[in-house]
Amino acid sequence: MQSKFKQDRRVAQFLCFTVALVTTLVTFFDELIIQAEFWPNIALIGRTVIVSICIIGGIGLSFVKSLKQFKYITVLFMAFLSLSMQSMAYTYERTYILHLFFDVIILITFYFSTLVSFRLSAFLGLSYSVVALLVIFFTKDINSHTSYMVILAHVAVNLTGMIMSAHQHLMRRELFVRNTQLGQLAQEMQSQAFKDALTQLPNRRAFDNSYEDYQRITKQQQQKMKQVCVILADIDYFKQVNDNHGHEVGDGILELFSTFLTQSLRTSDDVYRFGGEEFVIVLPLCSVSDAEKIIENMISKLNTEPFEVGELSLLIRASFGLTVMREEQQKSVIARADAALYEAKGSGRNQLVVKI
Ligand code: GH3
Ligand code: MG
Ligand code: MG
Repeated sequence: MQSKFKQDRRVAQFLCFTVALVTTLVTFFDELIIQAEFWPNIALIGRTVIVSICIIGGIGLSFVKSLKQFKYITVLFMAFLSLSMQSMAYTYERTYILHLFFDVIILITFYFSTLVSFRLSAFLGLSYSVVALLVIFFTKDINSHTSYMVILAHVAVNLTGMIMSAHQHLMRRELFVRNTQLGQLAQEMQSQAFKDALTQLPNRRAFDNSYEDYQRITKQQQQKMKQVCVILADIDYFKQVNDNHGHEVGDGILELFSTFLTQSLRTSDDVYRFGGEEFVIVLPLCSVSDAEKIIENMISKLNTEPFEVGELSLLIRASFGLTVMREEQQKSVIARADAALYEAKGSGRNQLVVKI
């Protein structure tokens, strides 16, 4: 939206300078074209004011930062332009037909520079035409052929302007909707990239992302009792679940196991699905003895409360390797936890091994 606003501002500035240039040229060739009949001095002053305001407006628009300000200034500027053009029409040539040329330029200016709002463009364009036609029919001496031409020109320019403005407006709305959808999609994709599709737990990439935060806590907690405890958990004989009951039941168990882990922890703790049936649990600000208690509690719960998948009721056991994070690379803390887990597997599974 912001870039579109800048584009509109540039168009408005271009039109300001065009009106200034056309008015200056008209003033120079006045004798040839319009031939002011009376008040030449007032007419000259009037045109100088128009040119000055157009130039000041064109430069001043660079400092307009919001769409709202831009709308107000555009409306004010258009009102000024309408009034000055109509006062020129009122005081100038009898036949008016040449002035029609300027009316058309002004109308095009309206529709081009007020594309921010379709209603605003239509309102300004139509009211300008109404005032212009009133000035012609009440103060000018024109024949019926000329009056048809004048009306036709006003109707044609307004109609074209409205179609153009409506089209722009629709395109802009569509662009806005698409950009919003694209933004949402990008956000969703980003959150999916850090989430495991099956269990909805954060994945290994999410752990990589959070690692710096854990390291910061580790640094702050040096020499203190509470540290960052890292636990690697792996379901025991999970392959047998798949082999005996099928992959779908295996998936169901993985989901239930994830829920079980999350529900057994504090809200400040994190669980990641590292891959397969392997999970990483991080307990920030937790003493080793508290972490041990939490995991032992999990193990005894797993041993007594079976998971229900469809009509099946399965006791799922797991092994855990616990370590404490130091100021170190991610792979070394994981390697230590993995060594502890390996030991737990080697000593009969369904247990916790601590390696600090
Ligand atoms: P251990 O006690 O030594 O850990 O034995 P295990 O059978 O649990 O370990 P193993 O590494 O031999 O097998 C893990 C199995 O997990 C193999 C694989 O088919 C299964 N698995 C990995 N990811 C998924 C998954 O997303 N869904 C299902 N259903 N199974 C999975
Ligand atoms: Mg396993
Ligand atoms: Mg495994």
